[in-house]
Amino acid sequence: MVDPTSGPIAATEQPLARAQAEVAELLSDLIRIDTTNTGDTATGRGERAAAEWVAGKLGEVGIDGEIHESERGRASLVARVEGADPSRPALLIHGHLDVVPADPAEWSVHPFSGEERDGYIWGRGAVDMKDMDAMTLALVRDWARTGIKPPRDVVLAFLADEEAGGKLGARWLVDEHPDLVGDCSEAISEVGGFSITVRDDLRLYLVQTAEKGLAWMRLTAGGKPGHGSFVHDDNAVTRLCQAVARIGNHRFPTVLTPPMRAFLDAVSDAYGIEIDADDPEHALARLGSISRMIGAALRNTANPTMLTAGYKANVVPGTATATVDGRFLHGQQEVFERELAALIGEGVQRDWIVHDQAVETTFDGPLVEQMVSALKAEDGGARPVPFTMSGGTDAKSFERLSIRCFGFSPLRLPPDLDFAALFHGIDERVPVESLRFGVRVLDRFLRAC
Ligand SMILES: [Zn+2]
Repeated sequence: MVDPTSGPIAATEQPLARAQAEVAELLSDLIRIDTTNTGDTATGRGERAAAEWVAGKLGEVGIDGEIHESERGRASLVARVEGADPSRPALLIHGHLDVVPADPAEWSVHPFSGEERDGYIWGRGAVDMKDMDAMTLALVRDWARTGIKPPRDVVLAFLADEEAGGKLGARWLVDEHPDLVGDCSEAISEVGGFSITVRDDLRLYLVQTAEKGLAWMRLTAGGKPGHGSFVHDDNAVTRLCQAVARIGNHRFPTVLTPPMRAFLDAVSDAYGIEIDADDPEHALARLGSISRMIGAALRNTANPTMLTAGYKANVVPGTATATVDGRFLHGQQEVFERELAALIGEGVQRDWIVHDQAVETTFDGPLVEQMVSALKAEDGGARPVPFTMSGGTDAKSFERLSIRCFGFSPLRLPPDLDFAALFHGIDERVPVESLRFGVRVLDRFLRAC
């Protein structure tokens, strides 16, 4: 059914006029549905309301979406846009509906206002990743209204729980309803497709082809408990802290994975600089703040993040525990764990809290060619390059079904915007023009793939 409130489409209407006109409003509406994911279902909220809102927006143009709940309120929506050739494998577009918490006291605007100001849509989720959700929605609504069919089926998945690892969203869907996405050969989602300006006529567009694996661990040291006034040579706190300090002070060696090599070649070429393989960080600094995100993909990392021990100043506790956030590159899991074991040393036990694989695909093939040509058609100065994410996304779940996963949420960004800082950051926002650009690129890409 066509949206009765929006009227017939004028014969003179430009292609994508509707999608470009409504994408910002769709994003604002979605931001206003507070979908804060605290990692605890009891205190999280809004995913069900967001999934129902998406279902409504799809229903207005005749696309049926089905809502699936892993737990009460933890809702994900899956829909299928029929393609011209149903015999071809489908393409998956997945986007999470949940966001990380935001404290209104720290923000210039209320984080759940979805306010438009200075050409930007502001609010939690504006870049992570309700922007892509809104661009996808705007586009498929436009197609449905104008009778456009993509060349093959497009499966849409709007997901719960990504911000807490996807156990109640993507991972649950892959485990419990693999049939819904099982015929997809490739997927696009966050984090990638955004631009870094090199100069007026050259922008790198970073397409994510790899992400690091996750190894969150708990370290536990034991010792002899006793009175704090005695002489002690078997102290759990001391033993734990020595291991924690060794890990925290350790710099894992640089490992150039194939996507990182390709990325560095592109940076070298774009800036006309030589890159020292022993010190690639130096060259990455040219990219500005985004180098923090990318530099972490040059090596495995392990950062101590939490410490717990003791209950009174004059009591030596029998155990002490620490939490360490470990991340390893594709193909590096064994090497990482060996190096880590040596750092932890004797007398400290290591248990995994969360362990998930690294993801990697190649930057080639027809799908990548279509990404490249869609970006170049909308931005003559575009130079798409593959890159590796230091964080993790729902791609980890979909890769389990042998789906090739790409971070491709196209945004042409202003040169001075500190994009990396907006992820989970204060005053998260996205330019309206970037959203419109994204809709046009996605349209070209999806109609050609
Ligand atoms: Zn995200």
